[in-house]
Amino acid sequence: MATKRIAVLTSGGDAQGMNAAVRAIVRIALERGIEIYAIFEGYQGMVEGGDRIRQMDWNSVGGILQLGGTVIGTARSMEFMTRVGRRKAARNLIEHGIDGIIVIGGDGSLTGANIFRQEWSSLTAELVENGEISAEAMQQHASLSIVGLIGSIDNDFNGTDMTIGADTALHRITEAVDSITSTAASHQRTFVVKVMGRNCGYLALMGALAGGADWVLIPESPPDVDNWEDVMAERLKAGRKAGRRDSIVIVAEGAQDRHGKYIGSSDVQKALEERLGEEVRITVLGHIQRGGRPSAFDRNLGTLMGYEAVETILHARPEDEPVVIGIKNNRMIHLPLMESVLKTQAVAKAIAARDYKLAMSLRSSSFSQAFNTLRTMIRALPHPVEEGRKHYRIAVLNAGAPAPGMNTASRAAIRFGLDQGHTMIGISNGFEGLADGQIEEVNWMSVSGWASMGGSVLGTNRKVPTGKDFYEMARVIEDNHIDALLCIGGWTAYEAVHAMMASRANFPAFNIPMVCLPASINNNLPGSEFSIGADTALNSIVDAVDKIKMSAGATRRCFVVEVMGHHCGYLAAMGGMATGAERVYMNEEGVSLKDLQQDVDMLTKGFQAGKRLGLLIRNEYANPIYSTAFMCALFEEEGHDLFDVRPAILGHLQQGGDPSPFDRIQANRFAYLCVEALIQECSQGKNRISFMGMQDGKIQFHDMQDFERMIDAEHMRPREQWWLDLKNIANMLAQHGPS
Ligand code: ADP
Repeated sequence: MATKRIAVLTSGGDAQGMNAAVRAIVRIALERGIEIYAIFEGYQGMVEGGDRIRQMDWNSVGGILQLGGTVIGTARSMEFMTRVGRRKAARNLIEHGIDGIIVIGGDGSLTGANIFRQEWSSLTAELVENGEISAEAMQQHASLSIVGLIGSIDNDFNGTDMTIGADTALHRITEAVDSITSTAASHQRTFVVKVMGRNCGYLALMGALAGGADWVLIPESPPDVDNWEDVMAERLKAGRKAGRRDSIVIVAEGAQDRHGKYIGSSDVQKALEERLGEEVRITVLGHIQRGGRPSAFDRNLGTLMGYEAVETILHARPEDEPVVIGIKNNRMIHLPLMESVLKTQAVAKAIAARDYKLAMSLRSSSFSQAFNTLRTMIRALPHPVEEGRKHYRIAVLNAGAPAPGMNTASRAAIRFGLDQGHTMIGISNGFEGLADGQIEEVNWMSVSGWASMGGSVLGTNRKVPTGKDFYEMARVIEDNHIDALLCIGGWTAYEAVHAMMASRANFPAFNIPMVCLPASINNNLPGSEFSIGADTALNSIVDAVDKIKMSAGATRRCFVVEVMGHHCGYLAAMGGMATGAERVYMNEEGVSLKDLQQDVDMLTKGFQAGKRLGLLIRNEYANPIYSTAFMCALFEEEGHDLFDVRPAILGHLQQGGDPSPFDRIQANRFAYLCVEALIQECSQGKNRISFMGMQDGKIQFHDMQDFERMIDAEHMRPREQWWLDLKNIANMLAQHGPS
């Protein structure tokens, strides 16, 4: 029997992006013809019933996408921990005819949900016995379907790459660490920053990686020596000696030493003050990490998980085990609820039992990879060169339009190379700089501070080499004995490397291994679902649109927001989903006069019915004739006195700004893999030219020979774009107006 009435609740700790999930759940349920209820104040509301359980309509979730926290409230309910409390909750659900619930919360909330479901028949039987419900009602509600979503800033749930709220918490941490870094560097100070995570070091680890911190203490992997305070202090001292002006130590809430003894921020402070002989400051980030507007990623994650949850509960059969919706390698997945909860709790148990090996093995492979990466990054100096080991001269350049995260990737690549004993060469100003011989050997400290910087310190431009450039480039490569080339950049960078490959017959100097690392805000590169910079640009769009929306005030106004992307609609589509735009125009779908006529009708009807704000997002190359100015003029004329229209061309603010945590983390990961690949090619005497990225669930290096086959050259975008289908979900959610 299909579920006809479902309810959603948020429970446990709040997390940014829960509102996006609630909005999606309510609207998708309505779209599917289901009655949908919200249970306010978590399980406590379920126990109390009455007006804590309210039917929702389309507008009850309007204007919440951009809000932090959860508008339907959350609570920790002692009553629900008792059987009597759960019996009351069961009666309240049956009274409302609800036979499916979507629970958004952490592992505690999901455990509660599982117990509730297991007890369902016995609870309802008791209710019949007590005369609280009829036997008929019990039969009609013989089972309870449950789907879970994980709302948790800690990112501590087993089986999913991300939980709702973790990305935003990382934004808060990164902003704080960036701010602390500048003051710490001014005074050459040492700071201890405490972040959340009782049993999970995700926020501390990724915060340290993204913020370029110097030391990190996480619960899963305590320092492996007893005198860790000495080792830490020595490392910080060595860093200062090497030229670092600031020292930042990040401590997770649950940090401990290898005997299980708690390490608090003041323990670290004391240890450092004694050993460094200077004042050490503490910043406890606390609830700031839970606060603020959700990031673009969390809005879209909440939306997509909410969509998936409704589709899942609709098709759930009484005998099905409850599932949790997760995300793995950028795709929604279903996880068995209780098994995943138990695995999640197993990490806490392993930490309590001081079985750190097990704790680490229960985390994802990217977690331990990030931990190893961080260990290299925080070194004061590279490992000494092993004698007899072959070493290579590896050059790094940035090319194409600037993308936030290029510096992070360059820094990581340079340090990985140096740490393995290779000579790293920085090329300034892209391929033009390569032709001009603008190259320099770089050392460990040359890249200090680059982790958090937007733009490109090396310098980048869009020039694709032609004719005599090749000759010059070949000469510089030969003269400087360059053994391998890492090119961090966007479309024109790929074209340039492709052109070098094509002219290898004439220029033997190009017979060296080369890799393109995807870095472009447009996210239009083949072989890569995410290019470095796109997440930052998306967040810039979301920030700008949030402000634009607020500026509408009391007027009836429609905004046409133009975003970048060249011919690729990624930023428009995902920006539209994250801001709740009611219409997204992009080149992939084209724009026709008929569409515009329909949109005029939609806007007119909407404003006549009382709406105050219209939001349309247009990719810059959606249509060459129906430009942003044209659309605005058309809508303005047709809107008569009903509404006015304003363009907002976001322009280069999308290319600027400090890289987002996601872009920084990806930049580190990609850079490591690229340098590894180049070293391997060199050591095997090979000279493959490739471009890399995460695609279809794995990191892949594609042969540059495949470039032309994988692209739509006319529109400068990949032939296949994974995100295109997601646009339908965004359309469904915003069809009756923005947000
Ligand atoms: P989180 O969901 O964020 O892990 P908690 O562990 O505090 O947060 O759980 C939130 C709520 O879920 C609790 O206040 C309680 O109402 C319910 N809950 C948690 N564990 C159980 C349990 N074992 N049995 C019944 N209810 C539970």
